[in-house]
Amino acid sequence: SDAVPSRAAARDGAGAAPTPMVLAEDVHKSFGSTQVLRGIDLAVAPGEVFCLVGPSGSGKSTFLRCINHLEKIDAGRLWVDGDLVGYRQRGEKLYELRDREVAAKRRDIGMVFQRFNLFPHMTALENVMEAPVQVRRQPRAQAAERARALLERVGLADRMGNYPAQLSGGQQQRVAIARALAMDPKLMLFDEPTSALDPELVGEVLDVMRQLAQDGMTMIVVTHEMGFAREVGDALVFMDGGVVVESGHPRDVLTNPQHERTQAFLSKVL
Ligand code: ADP
Ligand code: MG
Repeated sequence: SDAVPSRAAARDGAGAAPTPMVLAEDVHKSFGSTQVLRGIDLAVAPGEVFCLVGPSGSGKSTFLRCINHLEKIDAGRLWVDGDLVGYRQRGEKLYELRDREVAAKRRDIGMVFQRFNLFPHMTALENVMEAPVQVRRQPRAQAAERARALLERVGLADRMGNYPAQLSGGQQQRVAIARALAMDPKLMLFDEPTSALDPELVGEVLDVMRQLAQDGMTMIVVTHEMGFAREVGDALVFMDGGVVVESGHPRDVLTNPQHERTQAFLSKVL
C-alpha cells in the first residue's frame, strides 16, 4: 500500500516557499451519515491571516476542530506545522497522531471561540495565568508577569483583577485572546470571535486581532466581518457544503466573486 507521506511532502517542491502552517489535501469528515467536509484542499502559509467564510453549516468549525486535533479526519491528508496529523484512504487508517502527541501539539495552537469560555470564578489575570501554570508548570510569579504584559497588549491593563461577569463581551473576548497567547501558540484559530458581541464591541476585538496580524501571527479566522477580511486578510476561502468553492486574495474574492454561491453569500453579509 501507499507509503505514509513524510514531512518533506508538506513542503513545496522548489524549496523557495516555506512549509505551510496548515496543509489540507482532500480532507473528509462525516458525523454518522452527514458528510460535513467533502474534500477540503487548502494551504495556510506562516504569518498569513487566512479568512474562512461561508454559510452556517458549511463545515468551517469542523475544519478548525480537525486542525486543532479535536476531531479526526475520515479521509485525506492533513498537516499542521509540518507534522502529518492524519492520513486516511478508502476508510483505512494509515496514520494518526497518538493521543499523547495530540496533547503536545494542541498546546501550540490557540483557539478563540464565539463564546468567550473564560473561567467564571477566576479574574482576568488568573484566566491568562491558568494554562502556563497548570500545563507548562511555570512559576506563578513568572506566569503573572507574562499575563500582565499580555493583558496590557490587549488593552486591559486596568481590568486584570476583574471577574468575567464584571467585563463586557468585548473585554472578555480580549481576555480570551490573551489567554490563548499565554501559551505562545504558533497558530491562532478564531471561530467567529465577534459574532456574539454587541455591534459596538466588535471593533475593539478586531483591533486586537489586527495588531496580532501585524506582529506576524499565523491566524485562521472564521468571520462574517468582511471589512476585516479585506483589510487584514492575506487569503480568503469561501466554503459551502463542505468544499472550498472559491479562494484567492480577499480583495479579489470580495469585489469580484466568480461563483454564484459566493455571490449569493456575499450579497447577504456585505
Ligand atoms: P459551520 O461552522 O460552517 O457553521 P459546522 O462545522 O459547525 O459548520 O457544522 C457543519 C455540519 O456538521 C452541521 O450540519 C452540523 O450539524 C454538523 N456537525 C458538526 N459537529 C457535529 C457533531 N459533533 N455531530 C454531529 N453533527 C455535527
Ligand atoms: Mg461554526
